[in-house]
Amino acid sequence: MINKNSIEFIGEFGLIDKIKKKFIVKDKSSIIGIGDDAAVIRKSKNDFYLISSDMLMEGVHFDLSYHPLKHLGYKAVSVNLSDIYAMNGTPKQLILNLGLSNRFSLDAINEFYEGVKIACREFCIDLVGGDTTSSRTGLIISVSVMGIISKPKLTLRSTAKEKHVICVSGDLGRSYLGLQILEREKSVFLSNPKMQPELSNYKDLIEKQLRPKPRKDIINYLDKKNIVPSSMIDISDGLASELIHLSRQSNLGVKIYEKKIPILDSTKNVSEELNLNSTTCALNGGEDYELMFSVSEADYKSISDKEIDITSIGYFIRKKNQILVKENGENIKIVAQGWKHF
Ligand code: ADP
Ligand code: MG
Repeated sequence: MINKNSIEFIGEFGLIDKIKKKFIVKDKSSIIGIGDDAAVIRKSKNDFYLISSDMLMEGVHFDLSYHPLKHLGYKAVSVNLSDIYAMNGTPKQLILNLGLSNRFSLDAINEFYEGVKIACREFCIDLVGGDTTSSRTGLIISVSVMGIISKPKLTLRSTAKEKHVICVSGDLGRSYLGLQILEREKSVFLSNPKMQPELSNYKDLIEKQLRPKPRKDIINYLDKKNIVPSSMIDISDGLASELIHLSRQSNLGVKIYEKKIPILDSTKNVSEELNLNSTTCALNGGEDYELMFSVSEADYKSISDKEIDITSIGYFIRKKNQILVKENGENIKIVAQGWKHF
């Protein structure tokens, strides 16, 4: 029996909901508080700031035995930028806080910041501050990012429209499988240190896990096409839970098709090798940092899959159900396995 007073009982989303109810925003400039990928703060009549924060904890979000510090620095920035792009915004500044122990050499810290710097340069953002403390529980990285967006382009989770087409960028499930391969090779190595990890066949999966790239190119593409999505979210916790966020917050349902979910053949092959179902990896794996958004049928027609990797997977429906049409035609309810950190 799970204790009803435990965090495990209400889960991550239940907990965030409880905090949200306790802190209704009051200041006139606080346009949107808790609940979307970033908070929205008024800058002027037609312009907003976007603010978002994410934490990475050693042993929970990363394992330094296979995560190079340079990639970790890059990833810490990436996952935050992804939330600003998910609002259709442009990230501008970063604040990075570190909890460190003596076991890190100066060279190691330098490696980490090299990764941060590469991401800052690539996405044209400034690191403008932070805090440094000691930590007794491993490396802790907390990043906050600030961005901007004009009012007409601001894209929320809660404004999807019935019949709008649900699109996702890139491919899904790859990052989760990359993590499974890294974990497998780690356990092989621990049981027999003479065995060298054989990772060359899995490069794409592992890179996606260790060094994900936020999809600024998707935001630029939509802008070039004069498309403002009716809703958007980044896929950090798995397609299933992000679909549930969009549909619940927009007061609609979703219908998506298993055969349309973009999963690379190489991802399917590795999932078979590991005895996993690739659709389940895409639905519940997480850490893809791709974007999911909705557009009208007319806007969808102007998106060309020859120009960019955007795939339609289904559409929003009036009935508030989340439905997955399986390859065999069977309809099943989408459930979010959600968060197992606690
Ligand atoms: P994402 O997966 O996009 O990073 P999260 O699921 O982490 O989003 O957070 C969803 C929303 O809840 C965001 O608006 C975030 O700012 C807010 N949030 C998460 N944790 C807390 C917390 N401890 N206190 C206040 N707000 C929180
Ligand atoms: Mg997000």
